[in-house]
Amino acid sequence: MLKIENLRVNYGGIEAVKGISFEVPDKSIVTLIGANGAGKSTTLRSIVGLVKAAEGSSITLDGDQLIGMDTPDIVKKGISLVPEGRHVFPDMTVIENIKIGAYLRNDSIEEDIKWVHSLFPRLKERSWQLAGTLSGGEQQMLAVARALMSHPKILMMDEPSLGLAPLIVKNIFSIIREINKQGVTVLLIEQNANMALHTADIGYVLETGKITMHGSGKELLADESVKAAYLGKS
Ligand code: ATP
Repeated sequence: MLKIENLRVNYGGIEAVKGISFEVPDKSIVTLIGANGAGKSTTLRSIVGLVKAAEGSSITLDGDQLIGMDTPDIVKKGISLVPEGRHVFPDMTVIENIKIGAYLRNDSIEEDIKWVHSLFPRLKERSWQLAGTLSGGEQQMLAVARALMSHPKILMMDEPSLGLAPLIVKNIFSIIREINKQGVTVLLIEQNANMALHTADIGYVLETGKITMHGSGKELLADESVKAAYLGKS
């Protein structure tokens, strides 16, 4: 289980994350929802050691403290991040991008290539295409496939729906559920709260660096204040 306790992150003098605690149980889908600037990306980036957590924060995976570890070591322990905006390597082919996701491994990756191709047949078809010429949805799929190549226990996704058409978003979320069914724990942050809460077992609401509410996806979808703030008129 991934356990975040009293996580605080400062950028200069500004506290972007103000002492949040939450848990990501094994094999679950957990989502953090919240408006622009609530601290969602900062939280994910601190889990993989890309930003520094303040003194007194704790992030443990199966009891091991991750704070202070280097990012490659955190990835090797089983956490992988699909960053906001995908960041595929545009001048490399699809298959090269996929293989890069396994760069920290020295075991055989053939089975995993087959696995990601089974999840994303489109990427198999387009193996030799330059990643920069893929559509936005295909690039999102490629970013997920690349992250899966490190064979993570926990897949973290930063705004997978950003900039994608509704049908493609649906497709991405159904693949997220399939990946989870196959045993991968998922931590997802989203501004598309509706989709995220329909997909997640557990949701947390983050507002200006603090968790203000949590519950099952269903409970939060039914909550009047969540509806008013995050789900539009429904
Ligand atoms: P979004 O959905 O817009 O990405 P978010 O919830 O992910 O929002 P963060 O990106 O974590 O929010 O940002 C939280 C706060 O920290 C914001 O006020 C942001 O301006 C600030 N912030 C983020 N990154 C940095 C940085 N590198 N330097 C200084 N301030 C930053």
